[in-house]
Amino acid sequence: MNLITSQSPSPVTIDEVLITPELRFRAPRAPNLEAENAALHSLVKQMTEAPEVIMQSFVTIAMELCQAGSAGISQLESTTCGEDVLRWIALAGAYDQQYRLIPRNFSLCGTCLERGTPQLFYRPERYFTNFQQLRPAIIEALVVPLLVNNQPLGTIWIVSHDEERRFDAEDLRIMSSLADFTAAALSQSQARYAAEAAAQREQLARTEAEQANLAKDEFLAIVSHEMRTPLTNIKMALLMLQTTSRDERRDRYMQILQSECEKEIGLVNNLLDLQRLAIGADPIAWSVVQLPEWLRLIGETYREQARLHQQSFRVNFALASKPYTLVTDAAKLERILRELLHNACKYTPVGGKITLTVRHTFAGVEFQVDNTSEEIPSEALERLFEKFYRVPGGDPRKQGGTGLGLALAQKLVQLLGGQIQASHQLGHTVVTIELPHQPET
Ligand code: ATP
Ligand code: MG
Repeated sequence: MNLITSQSPSPVTIDEVLITPELRFRAPRAPNLEAENAALHSLVKQMTEAPEVIMQSFVTIAMELCQAGSAGISQLESTTCGEDVLRWIALAGAYDQQYRLIPRNFSLCGTCLERGTPQLFYRPERYFTNFQQLRPAIIEALVVPLLVNNQPLGTIWIVSHDEERRFDAEDLRIMSSLADFTAAALSQSQARYAAEAAAQREQLARTEAEQANLAKDEFLAIVSHEMRTPLTNIKMALLMLQTTSRDERRDRYMQILQSECEKEIGLVNNLLDLQRLAIGADPIAWSVVQLPEWLRLIGETYREQARLHQQSFRVNFALASKPYTLVTDAAKLERILRELLHNACKYTPVGGKITLTVRHTFAGVEFQVDNTSEEIPSEALERLFEKFYRVPGGDPRKQGGTGLGLALAQKLVQLLGGQIQASHQLGHTVVTIELPHQPET
């Protein structure tokens, strides 16, 4: 975006460059009605063309009928920062699009809009110092406001680059009549654009609602399926319990009942947690966590689990310097780390390695869980945090799972203002989370 902005103190006053009253005293040249008629005819024929084409015709005609060096249409707009600017939307003559945005508050067009009537400027760069870089320089500029129901839409202007060419009442007449046409065409095209944008927004909202509905249906279908599996096993085990009298069989069915009930409860709990997170019903309880002691306690459970599976488990506490504390929600961080460490124990083969590394980063603290595991292809890595996603063939020891653990971890990390990512390289899966030292308030 090129905006004329540089502004230095003006050596002259605005009245020295604004010479509009002179238009009344200059002898007008004779009108060329034939050329004007031909131009208006060609304009009428173009009324069905695209707005850019019509705008371009207006400036070409303005330049030709007024024998100007350049002509243009500037449309009034607001930038995203709320500043009013004038955008060159059509140009003819010596300028290119380089200076396509002009601030309203210190410009020829802005002054014209402020006064609400056509204005003639002579060597305006003497006052509008931010126009000194404009080449070729402006000798005279006749600027006419584009008004619809007294509302300014922009301006149409002609410029002479030649001391010999001065504008007069005839140019004012032509430009005023062109301004009426231009304002009508511009307001029509703006209305059409607004209607199209509204229709597009409506269509987008409809598509999003449809997609959300589809996603909800799909989610419900998966949830029902996942809930039915343990229930079916529970039903089967109950049936078998009723029909068998052998004690060892009964013990086996009781075990199945217990483990399937745990699965069902785990699934429902995860779903409820995800739902609470989605509706923001789980407020954050910030506290100061003393990392070394806190991690030692969490690590103990997994050291034991790993030992049972003949896996090695190591906590690599690489916080080289203070602070050893972190301001976070301890319960949520514990839940996240437990999901990651539980996964590591679950998906590491017998004899494999698990390492939890904690280190400082520029922005906060990083927790990294690294474990030996089956290969995770890149297309699976991209989906790891999706609800219910499990890597095909990624659970060779058939430990089972619902594919909700990482989705939950991701939501919790985001809630704590951090980031989570997963990678796989050379037989190692690495899940990394980074949390800021202090929450952003
Ligand atoms: P849940 O955690 O809901 O009981 P899950 O462990 O299958 O089930 P996630 O924790 O979301 O679900 O993990 C998704 C998938 O990512 C797992 O099924 C597994 O294939 C893969 N995965 C996750 N963590 C690891 C890891 N540390 N090593 C290797 N594979 C992993
Ligand atoms: Mg898991």
